[in-house]
Amino acid sequence: MKDSKWMQLPRNVVIGPGVIHDVLDVCLDLKLIGNGLVLTGKKTEKMAGKLVVEILENTYNISVKKIKEPTYNEMEKIVETGKDSEIGFIIAAGGGKVIDVAKLASTKLDVPFISIPTSASHDGIASSRASLKDGVKNTSIEAKAPEGVIADTSIIASSPIRLTLSGCGDILANKTAVLDWRLAHRVRGEPYSEYAAALSEMTSEIIINSPEGIKEGIEAGVRKVVKALISSGVAMSIAGSSRPASGSEHMFSHALDMISKSGALHGEQCGVGTIIMMYLHGKDWRQIRDVLRSLGAPTTASELGVDEGDIIEALIKAHTIRPERYTILGNGLTRKAAKKASKKTGVI
Ligand SMILES: [Zn+2]
Repeated sequence: MKDSKWMQLPRNVVIGPGVIHDVLDVCLDLKLIGNGLVLTGKKTEKMAGKLVVEILENTYNISVKKIKEPTYNEMEKIVETGKDSEIGFIIAAGGGKVIDVAKLASTKLDVPFISIPTSASHDGIASSRASLKDGVKNTSIEAKAPEGVIADTSIIASSPIRLTLSGCGDILANKTAVLDWRLAHRVRGEPYSEYAAALSEMTSEIIINSPEGIKEGIEAGVRKVVKALISSGVAMSIAGSSRPASGSEHMFSHALDMISKSGALHGEQCGVGTIIMMYLHGKDWRQIRDVLRSLGAPTTASELGVDEGDIIEALIKAHTIRPERYTILGNGLTRKAAKKASKKTGVI
């Protein structure tokens, strides 16, 4: 086996209130050339997309595309148009899904990509993985990390607080993701990176130890969440996989996506999954529950809007989501064990 690896990290990361106005400077600093394509969403166009176009169109030839359905198909259409119109770079000004479409399209077109998140709902804003709906199922695909991340905390603070709290759930998930990773390292000899694991754990500790200002949605609180999400993305880039930020709690969330039509957010489900997986690891699950509770994020099935039976089914099914990824779920929970873990932790 070759003992070398590539770590692809964002080169320019700009965080703070009003930094969207730096978009031209970032493009010029990254030496972006050619035609620019700005991808945005229905609501996020007003929040960020429009302004980005206004700032850039004096210098670059810019076209805009509003993403309606963040599907694999939609992404492929963008790749086709991108080829025809000789796109030189892509900018995503929008939520997680717009960013995922841009990330994959830019990977396929082999052009640079800048991520301008309008919310802090999950750790995909700076990571090298994208998850898109492919028919019925959500698949997580290896892509490249953005060359630049512009996280305007004034814009993100104006997004619904529920999105930021969901981001917190995705950050807390790092706790059990790292425990699962260490377990897989011990039991299966899976490659493990001390550096990536430490960064990932530190990221969740920051939210656990100083959650002040987050639920109030003030800029300082939002900034903390944004930094943590970007650090999670960097930890994944260092590891060369999503291992440091995605373990059994993510499998539970993905299983729930297939079983329940509740409309709970990814990070909300991961937060609840983290409580249960901490319990299964024999660790301090109450601490995770208490942090989520103090933030006002869901900690129970009813707060997620999910049937209790669906929680049990998702727990039983979770290990089949990524069979190659060894976690505390091992070969699967029995119905009895799934019920006990959800009851003991108060999730059902
Ligand atoms: Zn996640």
